[in-house]
Amino acid sequence: MSKNNRILVAGAGGFIGGHLVKAFREDGFHVRAVDGKPISDWYQLFGDVENLTLDLKSLEACRKATEEVALVYNLAADMGGMGFIELNKGACMLSVLINTHLLIAAKDAGVERFFFSSSACVYNGDKQKDPNVTALKEEDAYPALPEDGYGWEKLFSERMSRHFREDFGLVTRMARYHNVYGPNGTYKGGREKAPAAICRKVIEAKLCGNPEIEIWGDGKQTRSFMYITDCVKGTRMLMESDFADPLNIGSSELVSINQLVDIVEEIAGVKLQRRYNLSAPKGVNGRNSDNTLTREVLGWEPSTSLRDGIELTYRWIYDQIRAKALRFQHGAGTRERRHIQIAPALSQ
Ligand code: NAD
Repeated sequence: MSKNNRILVAGAGGFIGGHLVKAFREDGFHVRAVDGKPISDWYQLFGDVENLTLDLKSLEACRKATEEVALVYNLAADMGGMGFIELNKGACMLSVLINTHLLIAAKDAGVERFFFSSSACVYNGDKQKDPNVTALKEEDAYPALPEDGYGWEKLFSERMSRHFREDFGLVTRMARYHNVYGPNGTYKGGREKAPAAICRKVIEAKLCGNPEIEIWGDGKQTRSFMYITDCVKGTRMLMESDFADPLNIGSSELVSINQLVDIVEEIAGVKLQRRYNLSAPKGVNGRNSDNTLTREVLGWEPSTSLRDGIELTYRWIYDQIRAKALRFQHGAGTRERRHIQIAPALSQ
């Protein structure tokens, strides 16, 4: 791939998209970064790439985004953690418009390769009932029983990407990401996923001197979590590979949510009382990535340990919360000041 050719990153204002733009830019590629959010809300913004705000649900916007582009990376979707996807199934399914219109526009524009960011939420729910889960192989997506809403959209869009390759000759690649985490992602507001949410809750408890943390579910549910640098590396390797079917890009280090809380508490140097909210959305009981095929195809698998990745994520979220609190402390109006108590730990 020549560095003169343009790469489109759709969803560039989001978590994974922002990191992809950063990586391509550092390697000297010509990047077009597109997101539906106003540029002021992007997680990472680089002044030396082409930044566009476009709602990619429309075909017209997708045609504009794919003009004179050689590679398309589609990271754009209306998504979030369990708290979001369980309560916004219609919104999640509407992301089908983004991938569909991007595929049409990419085909018509003669794009060389197209990447679709799928998810482990496509896997059959019956295979994820036990916390002592058998790791999921790519074939476990069928017979289809994916996560309602979000997972169905991903499975359908995988299928559509495949048929654009078979019927129209557009080269497509599909990654099934398993929970991705790291700095410069969502950590508050309702769309955050478990690692960022737990870091935030532990930090807030520590800074406010609160002895308790709320955990969604009974804490025994298991997952694997992939650090963002592994995600970016796997994404680029898959795009460059000859492999045309969906492939797991995920860590195989399985932990329970309780173990994840242990790690965050240890990094924070606190021990909190756990209050389990059994009525909160918690997703499937157990999910892990079987990386046999990934190793075979890419000769690689994610390797950042959860402890190392969480430490970096914790530090970043801590800095965000602390900076925000200090900004309020120094600049907030009287009304805001009444609602914000800066704990002693913040001033240290
Ligand atoms: P994110 O929410 O941080 O980023 C998605 C971006 O897409 C957002 O910035 C959003 O504004 C943008 N977007 C939404 N609708 C749009 C539209 N109509 N037009 C243009 N932009 C639009 O999410 P992320 O964590 O970076 O995820 C990226 C991709 O990876 C998504 O497809 C997601 O489903 C998939 N994925 C992520 C994870 C994970 O753990 N983060 C796991 C599995 C799959």
